[in-house]
Amino acid sequence: MQFRDLKTQYNVLKDEMDKAILDVVASSAYVMGPKIKEMEMAFADYVGTKHCIACNSGTDALLLALKAWDVKPGDAVFVPSFTFFASAEVIAMQGATPVFVDVDKDTFNIDVADLERKIEQTLKGGKLTPRVVIAVDLFGLPADFKAVRKVADKYHLYVLEDGAQGFGGRIGDKKACTFGDISTTSFFPAKPVGCYGDGGAVFTDNDEWAALMESYHIHGKGSDRYDNVRIGMNSRLDSIQAAILIVKLKAFKDYELVDVNKVAARYTEKLKGVVKTPVVPEGFYSSWAQYTLQLKDKEQRAGLQAALKALDIPTAIYYPIPMHRQTAFSYLNLDDNRCPVSDQLADTVISLPIHPYLNEKDQDLICQVVCDFLKK
Ligand SMILES: *Cc1c(COP(=O)(O)O)cnc(C)c1O
Repeated sequence: MQFRDLKTQYNVLKDEMDKAILDVVASSAYVMGPKIKEMEMAFADYVGTKHCIACNSGTDALLLALKAWDVKPGDAVFVPSFTFFASAEVIAMQGATPVFVDVDKDTFNIDVADLERKIEQTLKGGKLTPRVVIAVDLFGLPADFKAVRKVADKYHLYVLEDGAQGFGGRIGDKKACTFGDISTTSFFPAKPVGCYGDGGAVFTDNDEWAALMESYHIHGKGSDRYDNVRIGMNSRLDSIQAAILIVKLKAFKDYELVDVNKVAARYTEKLKGVVKTPVVPEGFYSSWAQYTLQLKDKEQRAGLQAALKALDIPTAIYYPIPMHRQTAFSYLNLDDNRCPVSDQLADTVISLPIHPYLNEKDQDLICQVVCDFLKK
């Protein structure tokens, strides 16, 4: 069994996908060109933003946003401790200081009460200027952006939505990647919409920031490629990846997002009452980048992981080390108990295989093993 079955997906899309790839090869427009514009327009149209700029990864997308806002040494950027490393890494890459915020134990997303506490502490400390809050749509579920926005407005912070896992999620009718002042996503193969390599994008309605990010992602270009007006990056999406993404987005819109939600609903139906299943608050819709259970402790988790593995069922631990405990951030000298929920989740979470092509027989087998193990 596959954790995320990209091979089956390819076989389903094969004819259309092969043609899309070969068309780019034959066109010889490998970098930039018409496929990039087409892809950017399709993605902006889908989420509902004025601008989409494709770039080389979800990490670069976050970095481009921080560059557009000139985030720099002396600035504080608030970010959940329970996330993938890149969400926090980009802050340090800009020379700014990450301030780790705890998460909600039910949604895995940023705890807004703790966000406010950490902002107040930072202001009291008197050394850093609060500038940005990065809210992550962890495992596919949008963060509580209404609450995030309220705190951000109170303290005059920009909101950066890290939608690397959130693409396709919604709050009401509003789609993920529209909730930030700038929002980002990743097209890494295992994300809700992935390409066949690295890729990412930024989304915004703001013309000025869009123009800055357009420039930063191509060597700080000015009026043309050889007029360089700022220090930028080489972070273009390949045209082949854009062509792949156009095919993938269509399948995602037509059935994949609905199908992955069916798998999640079925898991929850069979597992609720047996184990703590993921919570999707009223009015929220997840794109299920992960389906993550919470167990009693590390030992019980290891036992379940072994029981599943014995039947060739892969699982993953997202994430075993919260940001405030990462060696790379040891220079911040953080106190030990700053994000207790993140610590607890790191020891108790386990993610089951989930993707739109997971058949009911495999779903049932997985649920049976989980139930049998936990009822023992
Ligand atoms: C995957 C991921 C990223 C980084 O995306 P890449 O395309 O791998 O650079 C950033 N944030 C989160 C939450 C992610 O899951």
